[in-house]
Amino acid sequence: MIKVAVVGALGKMGRATVMAVSRDPELDLTWAVDVAGGQGAMLPVDGGEIEVVESIQALEADPPEVIVDFTQASAAVENVGWALRKGVHCVVGTTGIGEKDLERIKALADETKANVIIAPNFALGAVLMMRFSEMAARVFDQCEIIELHHRAKLDSPSGTALETAARIEANIEGEGPPPSREDSVRGTRGGEVGPVHIHSVRLDGLVAHQEVIFGSTGQTLTIRHDTTDRSCFMPGVIMAVKAVHRLGGLTLGLDDVLGV
Ligand code: NAD
Repeated sequence: MIKVAVVGALGKMGRATVMAVSRDPELDLTWAVDVAGGQGAMLPVDGGEIEVVESIQALEADPPEVIVDFTQASAAVENVGWALRKGVHCVVGTTGIGEKDLERIKALADETKANVIIAPNFALGAVLMMRFSEMAARVFDQCEIIELHHRAKLDSPSGTALETAARIEANIEGEGPPPSREDSVRGTRGGEVGPVHIHSVRLDGLVAHQEVIFGSTGQTLTIRHDTTDRSCFMPGVIMAVKAVHRLGGLTLGLDDVLGV
């Protein structure tokens, strides 16, 4: 049994993770942590309840083997730093972690015996969407991304859009879509990651969706992924928890976990 702590346990993703971990016969949910916890806060798990402690420091006496972090970027960076120094592997779904922090996390993971997987999207369909986009970028010379999320999402563009754009940029040869010649409303051509334009939509009624549109003379190719329920992230999270001990240092994305 792998001992697991879920950090950000009272959040939308944290609650789903707490339940998924508690249901897996190979995993042992030993801790649930959330800054909004403490004072006897409890969460339902498979067959019972678990107390939600307020701070990751409470794990000091009996550290888990893996933490799963679904909090917010600055908190995740601190939590991962704490865990790595304690030799605890980390699976991080929190998005918005900047390049500098990623470099620091990589250096720390290389120094310690613990590993980290950071994946902007645990939905297996989204992992394939990014992989297919890399392939399409070798054939098409222009690409725009439209990502659509629920209105409570803090960061934009989404981590998935940024990761997709970076992979496309590494593979595309064209100079990208034409720039706006007359921008009567600022921002309508989206933000730019190299040659890729990204458009972020935030609306009630959405969960997480992304469309990657490639264009070249006389044809387009659209690769679209839709998340209709947060349960879609859980198979990827569970796979990552079980794989993190064998992937050295920092691993970005789930491709190595899935073997694609
Ligand atoms: P949420 O706001 O519902 O939950 C975040 C939780 O983290 C809250 O309960 C908050 O109290 C807690 N928290 C904040 N700082 C903390 C700290 N220092 N220690 C412990 N708990 C802390 O957000 P959410 O929708 O669950 O999303 C969480 C993160 O996961 C976001 O960054 C989101 O973009 C990302 N996300 C990733 C995926 C993926 O597949 N990788 C999917 C969905 C969301």
